[in-house]
Amino acid sequence: MQAGKTELLYLRDSYLSEFEARVVEAGENYVVLDRTAFHPRGGGLVSDTGVLNLGAETFQVIGAEMSEEGVRHILDKMGPRTGDTVEGRLDWDRRYRLMRMHTALHVLVAVVNARTGALITGNQVETEASRVDFSLEKFDRALIESCVAEANQRLAEGHEVKIRFIEREEALKTPGLVKLAAKAPPDAPILRIVEIGDIDAQLDGGPHVKNTSEVGQIVLRKIENKGKSNRRLYFTLNP
Ligand SMILES: [Zn+2]
Repeated sequence: MQAGKTELLYLRDSYLSEFEARVVEAGENYVVLDRTAFHPRGGGLVSDTGVLNLGAETFQVIGAEMSEEGVRHILDKMGPRTGDTVEGRLDWDRRYRLMRMHTALHVLVAVVNARTGALITGNQVETEASRVDFSLEKFDRALIESCVAEANQRLAEGHEVKIRFIEREEALKTPGLVKLAAKAPPDAPILRIVEIGDIDAQLDGGPHVKNTSEVGQIVLRKIENKGKSNRRLYFTLNP
């Protein structure tokens, strides 16, 4: 799948950490590539970091963001020019941790939603701790702890995480996906659906692990009240 001039390699393969690409645009502090494994900031996830190698020279990718022209790779210094072939490499430890956090978030949200009907109103997936906001008036610590325990049990069961691409028309005809398809932007003919066993199915553009057993355990950090019916919880992972 394509965004502007960039083919988004991470949509098909979350485990791709090295790739070759051509520079299609060089800005003041960024380059746009014709293909990338760098996941740009968005969808509640912080961006990947890593390096671009051009010959013997190395450029740090300090962030990546989506733009109309494609994915901008923000560099620590400029050098690559339009037409250059570069070798990209993700900071894999960071990315893999984000993948585990992201899959953990989906499972936790699914459990909370099934148990309480609470809807997610925002989230931020980071390496150290992630946070998620739920809209629910009665949501006490004991209930949240019990949801975390159930989410951890589901994670440990080792459910496969499947990434599927499906045409909107087909999704609209498939029971269970109709709701998802209806939520997709009207100009998206192909939908990316991430299914975690029978636990969760979402339209999603971010990287995930292949199996929930890779996640480890969710550790509840803190709960905050953000307004009358908004509960924010912070979690991290063990290990
Ligand atoms: Zn997601």
